[in-house]
Amino acid sequence: MPLQVTKIEHARFLLTLDERRRIIEDGSILIEGDTIVAVGKAAELAERGAERTIDAREMVVTPGMTNGHMHVSYAHAVRGIFPDDVENRLAYVFQMQSAMTAEEEHDTTLLGLVELLKGGTTCFVDPGSTRFFESTLPAYESAGCRVMIGEHVTDQENALNLPVYETDEAVRRTEASIERAHGLLDGRVRGWAMPFSLQVCSADLLQGASRVAREHATMLTLHHFGGLFAPPDDVTPTAQLQNLGLLGETTVLSHVMNLTDDEIDLIGQTGTKTVMCPSTVLKGGGGIAQGGRLPELLEAGVDVALGTDSVNSSNYLDMVRAMNLAAVVYKDSRQDPSQISAETALELATIRGARALGIDDLVGSIEVGKRADLVLFDTKRPEWRSLTNPVRNLVYSASGDSVDTVLVDGRVVVEGGRATFTDEWRLIQTVEAHGARIRERTGVGWDSVWPVE
Ligand SMILES: [Zn+2]
Repeated sequence: MPLQVTKIEHARFLLTLDERRRIIEDGSILIEGDTIVAVGKAAELAERGAERTIDAREMVVTPGMTNGHMHVSYAHAVRGIFPDDVENRLAYVFQMQSAMTAEEEHDTTLLGLVELLKGGTTCFVDPGSTRFFESTLPAYESAGCRVMIGEHVTDQENALNLPVYETDEAVRRTEASIERAHGLLDGRVRGWAMPFSLQVCSADLLQGASRVAREHATMLTLHHFGGLFAPPDDVTPTAQLQNLGLLGETTVLSHVMNLTDDEIDLIGQTGTKTVMCPSTVLKGGGGIAQGGRLPELLEAGVDVALGTDSVNSSNYLDMVRAMNLAAVVYKDSRQDPSQISAETALELATIRGARALGIDDLVGSIEVGKRADLVLFDTKRPEWRSLTNPVRNLVYSASGDSVDTVLVDGRVVVEGGRATFTDEWRLIQTVEAHGARIRERTGVGWDSVWPVE
């Protein structure tokens, strides 16, 4: 059967993020099946016909965005539950997550995917939150996004309410989680090793998880913070990982706050990948000014993806807002407006983020041969105008709310700002009902600061 040909026609601007970072005015894209086969001026592609044409006049088109750290699962059911000053929040997080049923997790996951896709994110890393992979798989199938998934494992007692396994069992679970997921849904699902962190995993577990990831030719991610505020004689957390053989091009360190200069050098020299979650740091009072080292990581040539963390961490999944934060916080904290340009922020959310997640051969730019993961922003809105510069207007003025159309693998999953694959309002009501039952089951909840009458 011949592949369906789709044409995106007359875009106001195509932000290609290709090698030369070309911006094509009045551009068109031709897609065969799941793959981009032509990119150029609309006039150059005028003769090329298609079964389906998407009118992109007054649209800005970008590559699909990547979110390098986003715990899908329980959070949508109880969004906003935490007061600002809650202590040991993660213990409640994992308590509620452990109380989910398979059906509940399917629905909360699907709502998470709706929000991600509607904001222009086409690929994300779920750092091990999902408990019921078999029941959430249909959500990924209908939403059609890309995901890196696995099971976060620990073998040390912890205050986070994370389940603790014997070391061998934790390694076995890691391997099983990779084997059951890796390559599913035409390769859009990838299984990764996901030991939780250096603090709650033994050396044997970290090395076992790393071995399993290598044997399955896949990647590993863990939560990681550096030793900037530790006594200077301590072996830094990053040096500990290096001593365990965990650094390298297939390891993705998430958060990476508080890195010392030596740690940044180690990460750069070993080609280790990273993810930063600026909105989570800011909301949690994590101290960007003291411990945020994004400019130094980029200077060292490190690939950095942006992440938003969960909807009870940051509390939003909008990568445009995440780009905005990445671009503005360093200007302020360094008192230097030349820090992290709008162009750099867009790279982090697209091509450089894709490199950090090991998928830049497939996505991250609008180029012939790459998958058609694309976002069309509707610029017929006041916040986009006047449209003198599409990159600056996207990063500094717009939000993900202006996403009109999203394609993944050439399939339209958001159209006219609506998800094409589910009844959103019905899903929202279902998930809220799940949330009420989860709160009842766990007893987790806080009174409103202001009286509710
Ligand atoms: Zn996390």
